[in-house]
Amino acid sequence: MGRPPASAFFPVFADLDGRTVLVVGGGTVALRKAVALQQAGAMVRVGAPALNAELSAMAGRGEIEHLSGRFAPQWLDDVWLAIAATDDDEVNRAVAQAGEARRLWVNVVDDARASTVQIPARVDRGPLQVAISSGGAAPMLARHLRETLETQLDASMGELAQLLGRERGRIRARFPQLGARRRFFDRLLRGAVPRLLRKRQHLAAEREFIAQLNAEIAAPRGSVALVGAGPGDPGLLTLRALRVLNEADVILHDRLVSEEILQVVRRDAQRIEVGKQAGNHHATQEQIHALMLEHAHAGKRVVRLKGGDPFVFGRGGEELEVLRDAGIDYEVVPGITAALACAAYAGVPLTHRDHAQSVRLVTAHCKDSSDTLDWQALAQERQTLAVYMGVAGLDRFSAKLIEHGRAASTPFAIVENGSRPNQRVIVGTLSELAERAREHDVQSPALLIVGEVASMADTLHWFGDAPLGAVVAVAQAA
Ligand code: SAH
Repeated sequence: MGRPPASAFFPVFADLDGRTVLVVGGGTVALRKAVALQQAGAMVRVGAPALNAELSAMAGRGEIEHLSGRFAPQWLDDVWLAIAATDDDEVNRAVAQAGEARRLWVNVVDDARASTVQIPARVDRGPLQVAISSGGAAPMLARHLRETLETQLDASMGELAQLLGRERGRIRARFPQLGARRRFFDRLLRGAVPRLLRKRQHLAAEREFIAQLNAEIAAPRGSVALVGAGPGDPGLLTLRALRVLNEADVILHDRLVSEEILQVVRRDAQRIEVGKQAGNHHATQEQIHALMLEHAHAGKRVVRLKGGDPFVFGRGGEELEVLRDAGIDYEVVPGITAALACAAYAGVPLTHRDHAQSVRLVTAHCKDSSDTLDWQALAQERQTLAVYMGVAGLDRFSAKLIEHGRAASTPFAIVENGSRPNQRVIVGTLSELAERAREHDVQSPALLIVGEVASMADTLHWFGDAPLGAVVAVAQAA
């Protein structure tokens, strides 16, 4: 066949019950497939010149049908799916080609390119099946992941799935509305039933289930969680943020929130992108307020998801005031703010016994905000500035600092796309700040760190590429 491997396979779970599946091959691989297919209820047809002992025994017991001889396309008659499991490439290819001609799905064992369907690695918990595929790119990785999941998915998962399957009709009858049903499941899955099943207390689990099914569920109260998503690396989300995101009905997120993070939110939550990119100050803050109120009043659990931390240059305070005035429940989940994340991922300690006893978080997004800054204070030595800003205005920023007494030789580090796969760090000295940024075409989001510690990125960097720009020596401790 020789087609390039598809970049992503579309997973489906097939109902093979009573359907004929052809396995070509008579050895141990064929045996493994035949057994698995048989367990799934398929009528297994095994074609090979000779069968190994176990397959022969199965044929003898009438569990499989044996077609003797070399593969012939008519073996595919009445077949829904075919698996080529011989060690002869030519035979495997013939099966794939004949299958393709009849528009049948064919899996050639260990040959993703010749296959039109992959058999995933799987974790089997009764009706609950977790299937893992690497699209043929890295079967060992899929296997490794399966082993990890095997240890994490308790055996009681299968029983839980069975219980929910048995009770499906009753649950639907009790909660015909999707929203109410979802709330019931949220409570059920976090409650005592899974715990009792894990302890093998089946009767108690059934009783608890019935009790929960009959319990009154109060009408939902809308709420808003102001959540910090951190700088981009999903690993920097807090556990609390993850949990709140998984319970959300509606997520209002900033542009700054990375796609990787949006991947982990609940699939059926409504996602609405709000807010503008850095630099555009006429963001629709009023519209954001209106959206929060609208969804919360409708009884939804709203997550207002912001880059970094919601209370650091995030207008989180304004949003809480609106919620408080409207009498809506709220909570705040802090996130890792850009200053902390960028410093960490660039190898720049923000404080240092020898160089910096304090840190200032500053914003200089536009002329208005930089005009109100206390330049005298910002130009003080022995402190680190973490500057949240658009990439415009760097000329003015460095000029003002130097004008107010900060040494022109003070090191800086610009961290662009901090913690993300495309992170870049640019280092240099204050006098050449704007020039360096232009030279490397720095784009938003980028954080500027000014202070002696910035030069440590040269030696302490560990994430992504080494810093760009001239090496500047850290002033030696006296
Ligand atoms: N609440 C956010 C800041 C919002 S202001 C926080 O706590 O991080 C937006 C500014 O944050 C950007 O202009 C940039 O200076 C900085 N920023 C946010 N994420 C960043 C990232 N991944 N890398 C570099 N800077 C970032």
